[in-house]
Amino acid sequence: MAESELLKKVVQIVGPEAQVVKVEPEGPEIGVYTRNPKYFLENEDAVASIASVLKKRINIRSDPSILTPPEHAKDVILATVPEEAGITDIDFVPELGTAFVEAKKPGLVIGKNGETLKRIVEQIGWLIHVYRAPAMESQILKGIRKVLIKHTKDRIKFNKEVFARINRPKKSDKEWVRIHFLGSSRFVGRSAYLVETPESKVLVDAGVDVSGADEMFPELGVLGIPLDEIDAVVVTHAHLDHSGMVPYLYKLGYKGPVYATPPTRDLSALLQFDFVDVLTKDNRDPPYSERWVKEASLRTITRNYGEVTDITPDMRITFHNAGHILGSATVHIHVGQGFHNIVFTGDLKFGFSRLHNPADTKYPRVETLIMESTYGARDDVHPPRRETEAALERILTETMEKGGKLLIPAFAVGRAQEIMLTLEAFYRKNDYEWPIYVDGMIKEASAIYTAYPEYLRRDVQRRILTDDSPFEMEHFIYVDSYAKRDEIMEGGPAVIIAPSGSLTGGPAVDYFQRIAEDSKNAIALVGYQFEGSLGRKLQKGIREIPMKVSGGKMRAIHVEARVETLHGFSGHSDRRQLEAFVRHLPQKPARILTVHGEEEKCVSLARDLGRNIRTESYAPRLLDVLRLR
Ligand SMILES: [Zn+2]
Ligand SMILES: [Zn+2]
Repeated sequence: MAESELLKKVVQIVGPEAQVVKVEPEGPEIGVYTRNPKYFLENEDAVASIASVLKKRINIRSDPSILTPPEHAKDVILATVPEEAGITDIDFVPELGTAFVEAKKPGLVIGKNGETLKRIVEQIGWLIHVYRAPAMESQILKGIRKVLIKHTKDRIKFNKEVFARINRPKKSDKEWVRIHFLGSSRFVGRSAYLVETPESKVLVDAGVDVSGADEMFPELGVLGIPLDEIDAVVVTHAHLDHSGMVPYLYKLGYKGPVYATPPTRDLSALLQFDFVDVLTKDNRDPPYSERWVKEASLRTITRNYGEVTDITPDMRITFHNAGHILGSATVHIHVGQGFHNIVFTGDLKFGFSRLHNPADTKYPRVETLIMESTYGARDDVHPPRRETEAALERILTETMEKGGKLLIPAFAVGRAQEIMLTLEAFYRKNDYEWPIYVDGMIKEASAIYTAYPEYLRRDVQRRILTDDSPFEMEHFIYVDSYAKRDEIMEGGPAVIIAPSGSLTGGPAVDYFQRIAEDSKNAIALVGYQFEGSLGRKLQKGIREIPMKVSGGKMRAIHVEARVETLHGFSGHSDRRQLEAFVRHLPQKPARILTVHGEEEKCVSLARDLGRNIRTESYAPRLLDVLRLR
């Protein structure tokens, strides 16, 4: 539908009083420009009725002609909003008729029933978009918010192109769906799956291999198509094995959008910046520069859980909670008008964690289920969480009483926060006093967690909203310099949480070298240990580790420290949880495809699920192409 036709239709729906002057496509949504924004604040049904007729999400925008100058508008906002709201930043974007307000307590900017907002709009014409300020400062979050605002004009243009692409006329009346397995198939790393129909091509995840294996990227080359033929990239969550290639896609010529939840956009940028940084420091050429990370953020269209979104003429996606890390999603893809339904689990936790609710299973329909198999073998049964926490507390107290250091290598996003919450609970209960040093990117990541409390379990959410963020317990000491590490080593008993989680790099490796040779110390492995990683070697009982130490020399480290593996903290489902997830689906999938696991795990999970619930099942190999319907 052309813009003029859209406008006519909208005016027909809301009448002349709404003073709608322009309608503009905004990616999968529609912007409605008005000279009477207050009308829409007072008639919430008006937005709903436009949305239901156009079948798109509607954003109300103030027409630039009614906006008062920003300096004046700013004074009015500050005078009208109560001081306790804690406004930290205001940005005016005239093109969208919107003032972006960052505040500690967004609810107070909005007011009861939106009363405060109405009073503001009446005086200044600007509509207000409120963000939550993170409880702790985050450079990344601040950076992304500023970049998005700075590039508004460019994003408006991009969104129009995306809209045109989604709503282009269909080119074929044939119907089929197939899927290309381009990575993370019978192994873990470089996830990428291309879903293809006669109309469209959508890439689900675009990860890298971070284990140091030969191949870093998924096998997009074998598709033999220019990247620009891909309509959309959908990212399940921020971990680099799912998101690390996204900036590189843009560098190679991809021009379309990325769909992700808001936390996934921000955490991906954090991890991608770090990826570039780590490679550079390691004297290796990063595949892309920071410029392309920014480009990826700018091209990301965010969706929350449950928002149904058309992304091509014949595909519609909905994100659901995956329970794995902040913003992690399973993706439901609806193809055609009820032609086929696919669910990608991404990384999945269908079990208890302190941070997130277990993964959601309420999909309307599932015919093909593509599920992760990280712990898919029959004997991959994790001990109950309570036992695991008790074990960690034992290691903690025994190590501290010996005067040792406890190193907990943890992925900066996900495991680190889960461990911090667990330790915080121990400390609250028992008044422990030992310092907990938190190194590397964990601080930034935790700050981003506090900006999205609605993505966390209710009790954690409540604590963040009442200024009682568990990440700010006084015993957590965030380490921001290398020199501080010497100080920690010279000091008394202490806990150290540091990335990376499988000791493939990052501060955890430095700490490892400093503490491993003393039997007073301990190392607790709490996350997935990549095949070939130092963490995996320790897990296997290898105690002679030749490593490059500071100064660049090679030396064999003799590990005397206690090494313990605690599977129960995993952000992945164990075998029983994977089976339970399938049993909880609203319908038996006609086909289950297992991916994202070592070969025997994928194969074993596929075989057993197929037998137990009597459905077709298979563990696809890399480069398999399967027709789903
Ligand atoms: Zn993950
Ligand atoms: Zn993964």
